[in-house]
Amino acid sequence: MMNFNNQSLRPTWVEFDLSAVRYNIRQLKTLLGPQTSIYVCLKGDGNGVGAIAVAVCAQEEGVAGFTFGNIDSALQCREAGIVAPILLYTSCLPETAAILVRNDIMATISTLDDVVQWDRSTEAPLSVFLKIDGGGWRAGAFPENAAEVAFAISQSEHLTLAGVYGHPMSNYDFCHDDKYTLQQIQAIRLACDMIEKRGINIGTTIISSSSIILEYPSADMNAVDPGRLIVGMPFNAILERSINWRPALVGLKSKLVMVKSTDNIENTPSPPFWGETIPTKLGLVPFGWSDGYPRSIPKDKNITVLIRGKRARLLPPCHSEMLRIDLSDIHDAQIGDEVAFLGYSGDECITLEELANQWDMSIQDVYYAISKNIHRVYNDEY
Ligand SMILES: *Cc1c(COP(=O)(O)O)cnc(C)c1O
Repeated sequence: MMNFNNQSLRPTWVEFDLSAVRYNIRQLKTLLGPQTSIYVCLKGDGNGVGAIAVAVCAQEEGVAGFTFGNIDSALQCREAGIVAPILLYTSCLPETAAILVRNDIMATISTLDDVVQWDRSTEAPLSVFLKIDGGGWRAGAFPENAAEVAFAISQSEHLTLAGVYGHPMSNYDFCHDDKYTLQQIQAIRLACDMIEKRGINIGTTIISSSSIILEYPSADMNAVDPGRLIVGMPFNAILERSINWRPALVGLKSKLVMVKSTDNIENTPSPPFWGETIPTKLGLVPFGWSDGYPRSIPKDKNITVLIRGKRARLLPPCHSEMLRIDLSDIHDAQIGDEVAFLGYSGDECITLEELANQWDMSIQDVYYAISKNIHRVYNDEY
């Protein structure tokens, strides 16, 4: 058991299984072979699992480095003892150059103007990656301009080119267009060829995030930068490399902080939206919409949680920091009893699939929905 944030007195917590992260990294290493190294992408606070926790165990597993979309998160990981190379995606200004140099963090360059500005902002050598925009129309040099920007980096006073990366769009829920993804991969590879034709040594070359790794094995270069795959988020496209990746998110639990009987209640009005289903026993848990529970409990679904290995119904509405539970069928329920929103209670289990269905979202969205304020518990028993 590892703790990466302070103990919490509030009896609500999310459980992550770091052995799943280790398993996923080992599986991926086997798939990729020794020529392709892994830079673990820790965007979105390690995709909701906690950047530091994922980084510590990924570093122990010997990954080549890390990538971030948030300089603050990258610095926190450095402070926590992460020594492996770190690449920062386009996400901060050249004025942070000295901090990046001091913390040995690599910046991203897209344009000729970037080269001028970053070069001017540092007195010490700064390693950079050139990003190539193969058709995602986000950060990066368009392939037509990539060689020119790479050349400008090579001619600059302080910048050194550590590598090149692209990030083809693929497998979005609103668009899954095989042809478009392949065109982007082609465009990025062509840009790399043009850079090398100018006599510039590229070094590390990255094209594949999780979905590209899973669907386009031929896009493996000498490195990849998956994020979501590492924490076991599922992908539902046609997968060339389907393995039972294990989810890092395994539990979401709380405890009953109040239990009361409603026997002999005659003069107290009851919520009209409960209709005839007034509970004979009522429980409260300290977890609500400000913690990530959906703002409204879907009415058409019988949403249940687990207590003492049995199912109990949630009663609407969801409050900011509290939910209530119909304990009518759990006669022995007491304050302090564990309540599982996700995971095991006795032999019963609420799976990630079931929770995602209850919350009307994808499993990936469940990872992001749970607030960082919720105490995180990490199991690591590989
Ligand atoms: C987010 C991101 C990744 C990782 O994407 P996953 O889908 O989490 O694997 C890789 N590369 C870049 C440039 C990114 O922005």
